[in-house]
Amino acid sequence: MGNLIDEIGAQLQQLQAQNLLRERRIVDGPQGPFLSVEGVPHLAFCSNDYLGLANHPTLIAAAHQGVDSFGVGASASALISGHSRVVEDLEVALAAFVGMPRALHFSSGYMANMGVIPALVGQGDTLFSDRLNHACLIDGARLSKAEFRVYAHGDMAQLERRLAKNSSPRKLILSDAVFSMDGDIAPLPELVALCERYDAWLLLDDAHGFGVLGPQGRGSLAHFGLASPRVLYMGTLGKAAGVSGAFVAGDATLVEWLVQRARTYVFTTASPPLLAGALLATLALLQTDDTRQRHLRGLIKQLQLGLADLPWRLLPSETAIQALVVGDNKLALDLMRELRDQGIWVPAIRPPTVPKNTARLRISLSAAHTTEQVARLIATLKILAEKYAG
Ligand SMILES: *Cc1c(COP(=O)(O)O)cnc(C)c1O
Repeated sequence: MGNLIDEIGAQLQQLQAQNLLRERRIVDGPQGPFLSVEGVPHLAFCSNDYLGLANHPTLIAAAHQGVDSFGVGASASALISGHSRVVEDLEVALAAFVGMPRALHFSSGYMANMGVIPALVGQGDTLFSDRLNHACLIDGARLSKAEFRVYAHGDMAQLERRLAKNSSPRKLILSDAVFSMDGDIAPLPELVALCERYDAWLLLDDAHGFGVLGPQGRGSLAHFGLASPRVLYMGTLGKAAGVSGAFVAGDATLVEWLVQRARTYVFTTASPPLLAGALLATLALLQTDDTRQRHLRGLIKQLQLGLADLPWRLLPSETAIQALVVGDNKLALDLMRELRDQGIWVPAIRPPTVPKNTARLRISLSAAHTTEQVARLIATLKILAEKYAG
């Protein structure tokens, strides 16, 4: 027993020596453009609360009402007795919102992908995965025992060659819709066309598109005006939707199969129904008011214009994720520290999360930010550019 602790202790020390030890910072109070960290307010560009709904009074009121109506716990898995009427209502509303026949609620996006992939494919089948996909698609793929083929990021020609050569009974393409470290959008029309041409299926992870992209935030498929029975759409509910959880929407038969066979659905306690109550409030807000998405689009333009002349490359992105690639790991950390000294919190992302020599500041914008706050970030980065690259 002592051995294991010693070994892991040494591994931790090694991480520390390589500057790779991650540390959590404790945030007091609710989420918002300002986060209180150890008592100091920071203007934060690091959250996925893209619409500023995590602390919205309407959602809070719905959660309060949910507590009064349903208590705090679901007390059982959905297939036993934990499937509450409000969750059923949420599933119906989510399916309608994204224009799919049926939706199934999961307790998180990670659980959704870990459950869906092994439920659909197994030994003898093949998965095709974009190189930059999120960890939980990769982990779900591993769990499935299907063959795992990676294609270069966004490389539809390579994907097509792989599909054309493949004779597996089931072929499932896995893709983020919005890539979480670059902010770019996957070529969805091409992906759907390839599915149709090669009798393949697409599991689309829209963690960063749901609520943000498309009319009223109906997601990345709506952004392109796409609909296809070959797509299983996974949206998460803890980012732009402001609460927690996820859902998978698609063909009703496939979704029924997930109810029966997605192990991360079947063998886990259902989420507290009060969360579904808050999420119904989210959907009602999205449907009646798109000022948040419009404001967010304005901030994205403002940042893209404001940082265009910097010596570092701001990746082209029309989403809330804006990556300023500075290259060097230490430079990224130095910039993060300098910003923090100025009371601005922007995370530095380094390999292995991103490819070598592409360390970056990952700026997340939110409709909760004001144009003045974004202007402050731009001005501060310009001063740092003079100091570090001038
Ligand atoms: C955040 C994220 C997930 C995980 O969703 P959770 O609900 O937070 O578990 C899945 N895929 C992508 C692309 C994500 O960014």
